[in-house]
Amino acid sequence: MRRIQGALVAVGAAGALLSGGCELGESSSSHPNSPEVSAAFDAVQEYWIGRGILSAAETRLVTLGPGDEADCSTWDIVTQTWVSQQLTDESASLAAYCHAENAVTVSETSFEAFLGDAALGGVPPSEGSAIVMAHEWGHEVQLALNPYEYTPGTAAELQADCLGGMALQAVAPNVVAGANTFHMMLGGDSYHGTAQQRADSFQHGVAVGDCGIVLP
Ligand SMILES: [Zn+2]
Repeated sequence: MRRIQGALVAVGAAGALLSGGCELGESSSSHPNSPEVSAAFDAVQEYWIGRGILSAAETRLVTLGPGDEADCSTWDIVTQTWVSQQLTDESASLAAYCHAENAVTVSETSFEAFLGDAALGGVPPSEGSAIVMAHEWGHEVQLALNPYEYTPGTAAELQADCLGGMALQAVAPNVVAGANTFHMMLGGDSYHGTAQQRADSFQHGVAVGDCGIVLP
């Protein structure tokens, strides 16, 4: 089972750190974003802009194809340093939020394959894309609201799932019905939480709209 991996979030301002020959804030992707993923990304972004939390152009969508690379370095609050992490289509899995790049990265090969699997399970690619993009946007919201308090880990991941549910309830309510199936296919891990926890957190965002984070 493929899974979304990694903490892949950081706090703090991007500096001039050189990492892997790629200046922080740059990626080497030349692959086009898929229309379905772009549409999902844009829809959730518009929701958070409409809530007054994010402004346009803060975060971009980057599709990593074979040979591409993105800077997903994370900011360590304790040591106040960037912890270098480069992601490629091969090393990443599905999608990630990369604060060093202000980007949501999609790993083209694994994401396309997983969306295909999910479609066989009854979740159309447009809906699977929306669930994953909404989760990654949840990380952007967390950092936008609490830039110096964000702590990577299971609680933050489940909160991102909840924020994803909140956003999709508003902009793509048709997606909500298939979200449990999608999360069960996605599976769980020790970092993100169990599949059931993730599904429950998403549905909590849908039904309650309170994800334990103070929204303006
Ligand atoms: Zn996450």
